[in-house]
Amino acid sequence: MREVVDGVFELRLGYVNVHLVVTDDGVVLVDTGLPGQASVIERALRPLGTLHAILLTHHHPDHAGNAAALRERTGARLIAHAAEAPFLTGHFQAAEPEGRLRKFLFRRIAKVEPTKIDQLAGDGAEPLPGFIAVHTPGHTRGHLSFQLDRAGGVLFAGDAVTSKDGKVTGLDPRVVADPERAAESLARLAERDFEHAVFGHGPAISGAAADRFRIVGKDGD
Ligand SMILES: [Zn+2]
Ligand SMILES: [Zn+2]
Repeated sequence: MREVVDGVFELRLGYVNVHLVVTDDGVVLVDTGLPGQASVIERALRPLGTLHAILLTHHHPDHAGNAAALRERTGARLIAHAAEAPFLTGHFQAAEPEGRLRKFLFRRIAKVEPTKIDQLAGDGAEPLPGFIAVHTPGHTRGHLSFQLDRAGGVLFAGDAVTSKDGKVTGLDPRVVADPERAAESLARLAERDFEHAVFGHGPAISGAAADRFRIVGKDGD
């Protein structure tokens, strides 16, 4: 586990990252990894404090995989966008494009235990003190990024974008439900000011992170 900035830790679970943030109220977890890894996350939590809340960027199994288990075991509140709710509670419509994408992902990766959302967060909401939700649809309809007011700003980009070799890149088009909205979301993130950025996939960028988002934005990549 690596400390990206003061009290913000990156835990790599295979090809996906989860992030643990130490706050005055306890530890906030951003995303939960693939199913079956709740114990690994709990071990990482132990020296940091008790789990207070889970911020979910979106419902995909590599992000929501342990949400049900951790919520049940710790009593932490689960926070997500309303448009992700049907996929998390298991009431999704298979005919919708996101339903198809979800089925594709689930077949390929894993099944996710359904769970309840305790608190909904929309664009601009402050779901927890110091965290601002930014609605960044495209990869999924209810995808949220989060910006933490710490160390000049830490952006939790989820799967809105990914990072490779210190650069910000778009996701594989096969896993983007709506490419046009994904591009708009990236442009909106590029307008924000933050020093650091962490991603669902790919290593964190520390220092002048927003600039890297602007380079991608200009290329229309
Ligand atoms: Zn995803
Ligand atoms: Zn992902």
